[in-house]
Amino acid sequence: MKNIHPVFDQILGRQDKEAILNQKSIALWFTGLSGSGKTTIARHVEGELAKRGFFTQVLDGDNIRSGINNNLGFSEEDRHENIRRIAEVTKLFINCGVITLNCFISPTMKMRSLARSIISDKNFFEIFVDTPLDICEQRDVKGLYKKARAGEIKHFTGIDSPFEEPRNPNLHVKTHGETIEHCTSVIIDAILPIISLRNTK
Ligand code: ADP
Repeated sequence: MKNIHPVFDQILGRQDKEAILNQKSIALWFTGLSGSGKTTIARHVEGELAKRGFFTQVLDGDNIRSGINNNLGFSEEDRHENIRRIAEVTKLFINCGVITLNCFISPTMKMRSLARSIISDKNFFEIFVDTPLDICEQRDVKGLYKKARAGEIKHFTGIDSPFEEPRNPNLHVKTHGETIEHCTSVIIDAILPIISLRNTK
């Protein structure tokens, strides 16, 4: 142990980091069908939070499946491993005081409760982005529904793979007939009291 100088007692904890960032960290977990609006709304929420000085990180398929999870496919086993790793990464961000915005279809109760149990209940804020399947299909942002209907993509959520609606989300946001700005402000109003250190002191 010569020349080893442990500094564990000097390591900053989550609360120290939250104090530096002047915020309370939490995972905002957006769940919903493909094309329901998870990414769009999360980006707008992130923008509104930035204006108010909050420090955030969006986690979505683009940065997770192309990186840390690029060895995973879409089998049942891989989907669960995908969510498990996302949840573990989220936990690290939360311990750094960062607010995460997680945009994953996460179609089953089992997946979401796995994420909730890893991240822990008190750090997990589930937002159900609720858009009817026919509207998501009309939007068909990435052309995936068309491919799924043509049988070119198998096990596509909402088409030949189930989406289990959350029974008791922290927030239920219906997007159809509403503007993106409205959906964003509903979320901002709900989370500001939770993430603000300044108002609760
Ligand atoms: P997801 O991330 O859930 O797959 P996206 O955010 O990529 O969905 O796509 C949602 C699409 O729906 C975008 O083209 C967006 O402009 C459109 N849209 C229309 N109305 C809304 C709304 N109220 N909230 C979110 N998205 C909306």
